[in-house]
Amino acid sequence: PLLSRLGVLDGVLAGGHRRSAGVRSAWGEPVLRDRDYISCAEGEGFHLSRASFDAMLLDAAEAAGARVIRGAHPPLVRRGPSGWAARIGGDELTFSVVVDATGRTASFARAQGARRRAFDRLVGVAAFLAPRDAVALDDALWIEAVEGGWLYSAPLAGDRLVVTLFADADALAACGPAALAGALLAQSTHTAARIAPFSTAREWHVRPACSEVSDPIAGPGWLAVGDAATARDPLSSSGIAHALEDAIDAAAAIEAHLGGDAQSLSRYAAARRRAFDDYLSTRTRYYRLEQRFPGSPFWRSRWWSSPEEAPVSLDPRARLRLAPRGLQRARSASPELP
Ligand SMILES: Cc1cc2nc3c(=O)[nH]c(=O)nc-3n(C[C@H](O)[C@H](O)[C@H](O)COP(=O)(O)OP(=O)(O)OC[C@H]3O[C@@H](n4cnc5c(N)ncnc54)[C@H](O)[C@@H]3O)c2cc1C
Repeated sequence: PLLSRLGVLDGVLAGGHRRSAGVRSAWGEPVLRDRDYISCAEGEGFHLSRASFDAMLLDAAEAAGARVIRGAHPPLVRRGPSGWAARIGGDELTFSVVVDATGRTASFARAQGARRRAFDRLVGVAAFLAPRDAVALDDALWIEAVEGGWLYSAPLAGDRLVVTLFADADALAACGPAALAGALLAQSTHTAARIAPFSTAREWHVRPACSEVSDPIAGPGWLAVGDAATARDPLSSSGIAHALEDAIDAAAAIEAHLGGDAQSLSRYAAARRRAFDDYLSTRTRYYRLEQRFPGSPFWRSRWWSSPEEAPVSLDPRARLRLAPRGLQRARSASPELP
């Protein structure tokens, strides 16, 4: 429904994106089972090739009348006599409202004094794997919880597989991406079996994946959408859908603002913040479903919505267990360690 509402469903269907057969997860139990998405997604899902999806959206915006300036450097936007001004692609342009859609960098919001509040230290470590031989690839997204975090794997076009390990930034800092990936894969059953027919990862990409919010989400003459407003745990599989929903709501808020409604941008921001607070509660409920690793700092720290709610521990062994089990083995086996 979201893609139809934006008028881009045909573009997605024609884009060669792989359809998703849903989610299978080993979460709270060792068995891999079919599940719903954390945030019940409407309609079928796709494993998107992000570059072509973004290019298709940009073309659709242009076809709908937006002026698109490609290849310009990130502009320095400054306050103008009536709104905002910036030099983009050689032209001096003025705007009534600026939308920050810069993702987690939230660079425009930060420049206006917004702060980012993070609720955890989750990082994703990802690799794209090519099949060694012909493989019959399950079209579902797989999620597997292990003691040191969780893993997800999803098929991509060309029978490639993306595998991503999620852990805390402390564990990553302790050993580096390749050793962390080796450790979590050593703790896994299903993901390790799934990647076996694929080539070994040549490069691991690190991405911040924490739940975080900009404060404020909007100000005089500006608002943030997508990850620049609220960034969610990839467990929710909902970041892209939320970014698109934000954009739809932001467009309505801007239209009202330009029509003289002085409160529309702050109402938009308050609605985003409420939705994010609801999401935090849902996230906590999902992490609490996994109770197999009571000694793991990764899991214990996620059983509360915010660090302030968590009981304080004075046990120094809690810090010593930050590095996941299996780390030593992976560290000595990995040729990619610095
Ligand atoms: C490991 C991982 C796995 C994920 N898996 C999923 C998933 O399965 N499903 C899902 O829905 N979501 C997933 N997400 C979340 C999803 O990627 C984000 O929620 C989504 O990309 C947010 O879109 P966005 O447009 O707000 O930000 P982004 O996709 O980050 O786009 C921001 C854009 O702004 C550009 N930019 C940055 N700074 C500037 C500047 N100063 N000037 C101009 N441009 C700038 C960037 O280059 C980028 O193109 C995942 C995230 C991670 C980290």
